[in-house]
Amino acid sequence: MKKGKIYVVGFGPGDGDHITKRAIDALQESEYIIGYKTYVDLIKHLVTAKSIVSTGMTEEVSRAQDAVKKAEAGGIVSVISSGDSGVYGMAGLVYEVLIEQGWTEKEGIAVEIVPGISAINSCGSILGAPIMHDACTISLSDHLTPWTVIEKRIEAAGMADFVIALYNPKSGRRTRQIVEAQNILLKYRSPDTPVGLVKSAYRENQNVVLTTLSEMLEHDIGMLTTVIIGNSSTFFYDNKIITPRGYQRKYTLGEGKQSLKPHQRLKKEAEPWALDQETGEAKAGYEQIESIAARQEPEPKKEQQVPSLDMALQALSMVTEEKVENPFLVQQSMESIFEFAVSPGVVNKMMTAEQMRVLADVVGEKGTLEYTPSHRLVVKVPTDQPEAIVAKLEQHHLRVMPVGDVVKVKACDFCYGEKADAIPYAEEIAATLDGLKLPKQLHVGVNGCGMACYRPVFDDIGIVYRKKKFDLFIGAKPVGRTAHAAQPVAEGIEPDDLIPLVTKIIEEYKQNAHPNERFFKYFKRVKKILHFNYHDMSSKIEVEPAPCGD
Ligand code: SAH
Repeated sequence: MKKGKIYVVGFGPGDGDHITKRAIDALQESEYIIGYKTYVDLIKHLVTAKSIVSTGMTEEVSRAQDAVKKAEAGGIVSVISSGDSGVYGMAGLVYEVLIEQGWTEKEGIAVEIVPGISAINSCGSILGAPIMHDACTISLSDHLTPWTVIEKRIEAAGMADFVIALYNPKSGRRTRQIVEAQNILLKYRSPDTPVGLVKSAYRENQNVVLTTLSEMLEHDIGMLTTVIIGNSSTFFYDNKIITPRGYQRKYTLGEGKQSLKPHQRLKKEAEPWALDQETGEAKAGYEQIESIAARQEPEPKKEQQVPSLDMALQALSMVTEEKVENPFLVQQSMESIFEFAVSPGVVNKMMTAEQMRVLADVVGEKGTLEYTPSHRLVVKVPTDQPEAIVAKLEQHHLRVMPVGDVVKVKACDFCYGEKADAIPYAEEIAATLDGLKLPKQLHVGVNGCGMACYRPVFDDIGIVYRKKKFDLFIGAKPVGRTAHAAQPVAEGIEPDDLIPLVTKIIEEYKQNAHPNERFFKYFKRVKKILHFNYHDMSSKIEVEPAPCGD
């Protein structure tokens, strides 16, 4: 006899665009489709099954049993769930029925769980990007789960600052649960925490409400709503709810927030709250969220403990006649890391003791100061006032520059100012170009004489002042085994023409380069920048293989 098969199909939120191909194939291959009536109606048009069995809401067990029976008789059966069948869906139930009968994969009927887009994902996408960070789903239905368990999970999720998607938030009969959930969460989260209510995502009657934790109950919430509650750093932006990827945002000069590059994210100083790789301990000052959980966890009777905390806070407020804040509440705003470069000047290479003191003050205990190969110190410091730092440093004549993929202008020291002719040009070049945002960082080197001792010919763009005019070099590859100097492309450029020419080169690169494409790679690929043709500057030397030791 032919062995049957059960597909447990999650068909996504309910529209034709968000169902997977595998789900459609499974439905079309099936002789029987079994599901809750409303769901069957949503996918009916996609299938040709000879039998469609729609059942009532509460008949899940009989639905699963029916499916197993039909498959055992050799039928191909799809049991359907909205969203994902493994998320408060039919997948677990089908397995439970099978297990009761001693089913094994080897000998029993075939079972395939077809994944689908769950409400947390579909509703999240409609709201913007509220999920993004650690999140959990909690069903408020106490139909199969005791309320005391659900309550504990809400408490734990609230305490641990998870983004939370509440499924089954409310029905005609169950109206208290969402009120209780709100009360619990308000102990840990600000009343202004962004909340999204999405009803019937990607279905005909889709309805979206942006609200807050304190006001969410003033809106319609029903059986078809998913409630998404942000964490302590979730924010509203342009009618969207956004949860940032991490807890601290980064500032950088000139571009507002800087996206972290993968290798930077791994640096300890970029994530000062991370576990120390050697000691395995969280660093002081960044364990706020952890301590909230830690302080609560060892106590056995959590349910009773927190109301008494509320009472204590109320009592304190009455005595002191001021509102005493809940110390377990995760604060809404957190410091960000401000990252920038600093040097004593374009030409000047000397730092005064006073400048060093100011810099040390800015860096403080929590920041870092890094000496880098590009003639600048890179500072990373947690703060929520980057502008104040810039003002302070500039007041002490320090040059503050952005980091990341920008133009970086450096100049020689002009023999400590003795060869001063080109200094104003160097300063103008820095003032015009430094910090321009590009597909990849680009170094411009300026030298005051033909010695070119600060090695501008090993920069992406090298500028050398000679006989009151400028020589221009472009496209050095300063790193790697195939490193080579830049190509001399023009000599005797009039001072007035220099900046417009270099600007045009940079503009062309900016317009046409691929993301992350370095200047020399771009030049090599396109073979021509402005009217300058590319010449291969790498010398091809035959390298003798190292002799073997044995
Ligand atoms: N298996 C489903 C969840 C079933 S529980 C899934 O993975 O999405 C039913 C709950 O799911 C509803 O009460 C609602 O909270 C949520 N839900 C399911 N489909 C939804 C949709 N299209 N829009 C909003 N919420 C939805």
